[in-house]
Amino acid sequence: MKQNKLLVLLTLVAVVLIVAVVVMLNQPKDQAETATKGEHVSTDGQPTIGDADAPVSIVEFGDYKCPSCKQWGETIYPQLKADYIDTGKASFSYINVLFHGQESILAALASESVYVQDPDSFWDFHKAIYDAQPASQNHDEAWVTVERLTEIAAATTSVDVAQLETDLSENSSVLEQVSHDDGLVKENDVRLTPTIMINGVVLDNPFDYDMIKRLIENDL
Ligand code: CA
Repeated sequence: MKQNKLLVLLTLVAVVLIVAVVVMLNQPKDQAETATKGEHVSTDGQPTIGDADAPVSIVEFGDYKCPSCKQWGETIYPQLKADYIDTGKASFSYINVLFHGQESILAALASESVYVQDPDSFWDFHKAIYDAQPASQNHDEAWVTVERLTEIAAATTSVDVAQLETDLSENSSVLEQVSHDDGLVKENDVRLTPTIMINGVVLDNPFDYDMIKRLIENDL
């Protein structure tokens, strides 16, 4: 009887070990070195493009004042959109980061105001703000102003410009959304922009498209 129990125990240990090895072998080759496992971030109330029920959820923590975010949006995002968002495999959500002070806040308020007033135009407006960001050598120059943002909104959305101006003032109706995003940044310990999360996994190098593909394919 005792021997049987021992045998069962040993078999169990062996099975657990085999499962552990199989799980390890099935992980993307260098995931451990290039990505950090995070918690799934809630995208409730965030602008999301693509099928919201797609198996893969991609989240960008971005700052309209950040040159790398502009660069990411121009180089990596179009490939990602064509390969995975437009094909229904992944959804993509954007969360505001406020690392560059008042201008980051202004741009974030504008994006939230547009998202409330004319959600269908959000991504056009979003892209137009990044397009308006000057070449990187000048990125510290002030360029995010109420005038510039209302000009961009008038060209790319059908929002009520007066409401947008209110939302860029101390009487803003979207402060709560911006501070909610700021809370998510702190909760998720976001320190760099852009921070890209794929089903909760943070990419160490958001410009590594092969890694992005591997992480997505792994979850499909
Ligand atoms: Ca938001």
